[in-house]
Amino acid sequence: AEGNQKAHVVLLPSPGIGHLNPLAQLAKRLVLDHDLSATIITFSDLSGIQQSLLSSLPNGVTSVSLPTIPLDDLPINTHIVTRLSIMISRSVPFLSQILLTLQKTRRIVAYIIDLFGGETLSLAFELGIPRYIFCTTNLFYLSFLLNLPSLYHDKPCNHNPNQVLFLPGCTPLHPKDYSSSSIDKNSEVFAWMIRHSKHHDQVDGIMVNSFEAMESGPARFLKERGNGKPPVFSIGPLTCDSRSNKSQAECSLCLKWLDQQPSRSVLFIAFGSGGTLSFKQTKEMALGLEMSGQRFLWVVRKPVDADASAAYFNHHHGKDNPLGFLPEGFVERMKEKGMVVPSWAPQEEILAHGAIGGFLSHCGWNSTLESIVNGVPMITWPLYAEQRMNAVMLVEGAKVALRPTGMNNDEVAGKEVIADVVKDLIEGEGGKEVRQKMHELKEAAMKTVGIDGSSNKALALMVNKWKTMTYN
Ligand code: UDP
Repeated sequence: AEGNQKAHVVLLPSPGIGHLNPLAQLAKRLVLDHDLSATIITFSDLSGIQQSLLSSLPNGVTSVSLPTIPLDDLPINTHIVTRLSIMISRSVPFLSQILLTLQKTRRIVAYIIDLFGGETLSLAFELGIPRYIFCTTNLFYLSFLLNLPSLYHDKPCNHNPNQVLFLPGCTPLHPKDYSSSSIDKNSEVFAWMIRHSKHHDQVDGIMVNSFEAMESGPARFLKERGNGKPPVFSIGPLTCDSRSNKSQAECSLCLKWLDQQPSRSVLFIAFGSGGTLSFKQTKEMALGLEMSGQRFLWVVRKPVDADASAAYFNHHHGKDNPLGFLPEGFVERMKEKGMVVPSWAPQEEILAHGAIGGFLSHCGWNSTLESIVNGVPMITWPLYAEQRMNAVMLVEGAKVALRPTGMNNDEVAGKEVIADVVKDLIEGEGGKEVRQKMHELKEAAMKTVGIDGSSNKALALMVNKWKTMTYN
C-alpha cells in the first residue's frame, strides 16, 4: 500500500450489539475527529437494530460481513463465553482473506478487537499490523481479567471460594459479585477466560470504554503497569449520540408517551440485549412496580427460567407476545401510570428524555454509560457476565445507584423489595443522594471527552502514533 494514503483501522466487534455499538462509536470518532478511515468486520445474522446502527455511520466507515459460522454442533446449553469464543476462532480463515484483501489497497495502522477476539491476533501479527484491544467494559473488570491467571490459574492449590479480592485501586470484590463460572478451574468458560486474559499481553495497547474520573483507583495502577506490558488508555465514555437518531425515534410510541409525563418522574426498566427474567421474577417485578405507585416504562421480554442471557443469541425473541406473561389485568390497570414495550425500545433516546427519573438496569456497561452521560441515577439488577461487578462499582464505588435490599443472587426479589427501592429512587432520600452524585459524574464524563479531557487526549495520542508510523 502507498505510504501517503489515509491511515486505516480495522475493527472486529464480537457478536452482540453490546460489542458492536462501542466499536462502531470508536470507528465513528476516528473518522469524524481524526480523519482516519475504518472497516468494521461483522458476524453475519445481524439484527435489524445492528444493521441500522451500521447504516447510520458516516462515510469513511465501511462494513464487511463474515459468512455464517455454524455453531449447531455445540450443545444447546453451551455458555455464552464459549459460544462467542468458538465462533471467533472459527472465523479465522475468512478473516485472513478479508485482511489480505484490505491490505492491498489500504494503509492499515491498527487492528482492533474486543475481549473475545484474541484468537485472531496472530493474523494481524503475520501481516505486520499493530494490534489493540478495546475493552468494552471498565477498568475494574479489566483489572480482574488481567489478574485472573495469577490469582487462580498459575497457583497449584485450589483457591479459597470465600476469598475477597483486593485488586489494586479497586473496590473490594466479594465472591458473590463475580461470576462463579469464570473462576471455576474445571469449567470451559474458565479456560477461555484465561486465554482471553493472556491475549491482553500480546497487543500494542489496550483501550477502555471508561474514564479516569470515574475509576481513578484502577486507572492509576493500570497506567503504571510497566514491565513491558501493553499500556492502558481510558478513552470513554463512547456512547451513541442520541441526538443523531432523532428521525427514527420520532415515530416511537414510547417517546410520545414520555412527552406527556412530568419531568424526572418515570423509571425506565431494561435488561440489555440479552437479559431475561424468570417467570416468577417477571410477575413480582410487575406487582412491585404497581405497588410503588411510580410511573414506569418497561421493556418486557418473554420470561426464561434458568438462563438470564437467553435473548443474547436469539434477537428475534420468538413468536410469543412477552406481554402475555404479565399478571392478569396488569397492562390495563397500569395504563395511566406505566407503559410496557415488548422486547426492545430505543434506549438511548429514552434515557436522554427529560421525563426519565431513574433506570433499573442489568448494568451492562453500555447501558451504564448511557445512564451516566444522561445523568440518570440507577437501580442495579445484574444478571450475568460482569454485571455484578459493575453493580458493585456503581453502588459502592461511584455511589450513583441504589441496590434492592436483601436481594441475593439467584433469588427472586419480592414485590415489596422492588416497590421500596423504586419509590426511594424516584422520590425518596436515597434517590436524592444518588441523583446528585450521578449529576456530578455526568459533568465529569462530559469534561473527559471534551477538548482538554483525559479520554479525548488519550485517543488523540494514540491516533498520532498511528498517523506517524512508518509502514512496511
Ligand atoms: N438496548 C436498546 N434497547 C433495548 C435494550 C438494549 O437500545 O431495549 C441497547 C442499549 O442502549 C445498549 C445495548 O443495547 O447500547 C446493550 O448493551 P449493554 O452493554 O448495556 O448490555 P448487553 O446487551 O451487552 O448485555
